[in-house]
Amino acid sequence: MKFEICNQIFPTKESATKYFMEYFHTKTSLTSSDKDMLRELLRNRNDFDKQTNFEDFQIAINQYNTTELQYRLENTDIFVPFSIKRCIVGHGKTDKARQANDFRQAVSEQILDYIKSHPDKICCLCKSTSYIQVDHFKPAFETIIQNFNLIHSSDLSIEKFQAYHKATCSLRYLCQNCNIKAYHSSKPGRKKIFSEEEYKARNIENSKKRFSLLRQKIN
Ligand SMILES: [Zn+2]
Repeated sequence: MKFEICNQIFPTKESATKYFMEYFHTKTSLTSSDKDMLRELLRNRNDFDKQTNFEDFQIAINQYNTTELQYRLENTDIFVPFSIKRCIVGHGKTDKARQANDFRQAVSEQILDYIKSHPDKICCLCKSTSYIQVDHFKPAFETIIQNFNLIHSSDLSIEKFQAYHKATCSLRYLCQNCNIKAYHSSKPGRKKIFSEEEYKARNIENSKKRFSLLRQKIN
C-alpha cells in the first residue's frame, strides 16, 4: 500500500511520517517550498475541509519548551499548533490525546469569536503586541476537560463540551513568552525560566533529544 504526498512516494504512511518529522524537526525557519509542503500535509488531514486556505506557517517554541509547527488561522494573526503525524496517519495514539484534540478543534469557533470581539491584541501581563496567543486562564483547558468528563460522564459529546466550555472558560491574551512562563509557574516543581537565551538553549537541547530519540526508533 504505497502512499503519495508532496510529489513523493513512500512504502507506508509511517515511513512518510518519519521522513517529514525528521525533515521539519531539524529546521529553525521555513522556506516557501516548506510552506507549500505543510499546506499539502494539512489538506491531507481528514478533519479539515480540503478547501481550507492555510495562509501562513511558523516554527515556534511551545510551553513544553520544544519546537512546534503552527499554521495561521484565516483572517487573524493567531497561530495554531499541529502535528505532522496527525496529518498523515490520523489521530494521536491515546484516547485522552484524541479527546483533547477533538475538543480543542470543537472550540476554535469560540476562540475566533473572542479574537473578533477583542481587536486589541495586547499581552495582558507584559503589554507586548507580538506573538499573541489566546490563553485559557483559570481554569486551564486541561482542567475544563477533566471537570467536563467528571460532570458529564453520561454524555461526552462535542456539542455538550462546546456548551460547557462556553459557560466555564475564561480567556485572555498572552504573548508567547508570558504564556510559557505562566504555564511553568502553574506547575509547582517545574523550573521557571525567564530569559529568552534560556528558552533558546533549552529548545535546542530538547530538539536534539527528540531527534536522537527519533533516530533510535528508526534504527
Ligand atoms: Zn507578555
